[in-house]
Amino acid sequence: MGSPKTEVPVEYGNKRTSHNYTKDIPQALKVYDWEESFGYSTYQMFPTLSQPRRWVKWACAKFGIKPVKVLPQRKGQIYSWYCAPRNAIYLYKQHYNVWTVLHETAHAITEKKWGVSGHGKRFVGVLMQLLIWTGLYPKTALYASAKAAGVKFVKSGWLKDKKAVRRKASRKRRSSKPTKRSKTR
Ligand SMILES: [Zn+2]
Repeated sequence: MGSPKTEVPVEYGNKRTSHNYTKDIPQALKVYDWEESFGYSTYQMFPTLSQPRRWVKWACAKFGIKPVKVLPQRKGQIYSWYCAPRNAIYLYKQHYNVWTVLHETAHAITEKKWGVSGHGKRFVGVLMQLLIWTGLYPKTALYASAKAAGVKFVKSGWLKDKKAVRRKASRKRRSSKPTKRSKTR
């Protein structure tokens, strides 16, 4: 989360995910710009990690995934990220706010539910749904602003989409050699 210069290299540097870096970058940059337009993505709203932890717990429960750990980012590191192998969100102090916390939790949710990393349309759909559920962000404003920013997203339809993903996965399973699979998770 955060500005492109802080987050991109880090998330993209995580070799343990099955991430298609080149494909994600254009959408990721659009997502960051869209988030910045709300002005909520880079400031410290909470003094400690206790509130971010509550929001992460709330978001995980909403999507029925096991709780994700929330840890302080290492000193000197000015980005936040979700580390799938450790199932932990590392939060930079400036990112102790609702939006950023939900952004990172949305990474955990898409990883766990669909094995997808990055900032694709399912990720944005999950993030938007969480933001809407907080009651802090009106749906119409989120949809309209994302559209205007060229951000692709699944409209609160992840369940429908989940079935589509399953169908696609089973087609893949039937048709190909497991060695070709790029998922490492
Ligand atoms: Zn991100």
